[in-house]
Amino acid sequence: MKTNSSNPSRREFLATTTKAGLSVGLMGTAFSDLLAQPNQQVVDTGFTQTPLPYAYTALEPHIDARTMEIHYTKHAAAYASNLRDAAKEEGVDTAQPLELVLTSISKYSAKMRNNGGGHYNHELFWSILGTASEPGPEGALLKSLKTSFGSYEAFVSQFETAAKTRFGSGWAWLLVDTTGKLVVSSTPNQDNPLMDIAEVKGTPILGLDVWEHAYYLHYQNRRPDYVAAFWKVVNWKVVADRFAAATT
Ligand code: MN
Repeated sequence: MKTNSSNPSRREFLATTTKAGLSVGLMGTAFSDLLAQPNQQVVDTGFTQTPLPYAYTALEPHIDARTMEIHYTKHAAAYASNLRDAAKEEGVDTAQPLELVLTSISKYSAKMRNNGGGHYNHELFWSILGTASEPGPEGALLKSLKTSFGSYEAFVSQFETAAKTRFGSGWAWLLVDTTGKLVVSSTPNQDNPLMDIAEVKGTPILGLDVWEHAYYLHYQNRRPDYVAAFWKVVNWKVVADRFAAATT
């Protein structure tokens, strides 16, 4: 993980992040922790929402501001709140990473599974989105995509199929599986590949929310259009960080 603050793209990211944080009034002390321990931030998920690292308008026209605001402040906020309720009810220590609960989710209630998954999935989702100027995958991640899928285009096609054919509500994933290989999967509802009940298990590094609440205001029934637009707003630097954390 590069921490060189003289890097222009990083400087730009920090400036954007700071403005976005201030504009939504969610700037907290956690931000300095994020800068101090970037890898820690991408591998450990807490039980509360982290501030969005950009404004609600940042992903337009691909994901509209109204959808982002409702999605973050209503849907995702409810998962986080219900997760904390479930943790209290089931005696779960909220100081530990949420990942530890998810990997043994079969021992917990449906409330924990739905809301723990819901909170984790949305925290990951916000983190891997960014402005429309983000470059595509590079370096070790691009190399691994080519090794695992044959080409970047083949990966995109497989991921889009997973997202479009997930019946009802759920997620499409790019994950590092238990053998260290990159694979695509999809899960129903708020399940994810970390869970011990997942059909395909591993560490997710990219996820796409295909619940209707994620796209219906702007795209209505046109899920394929939303899936195609997703590539315009993927922050590949964060995906690469998650890939590095999952493979080292
Ligand atoms: Mn959602």
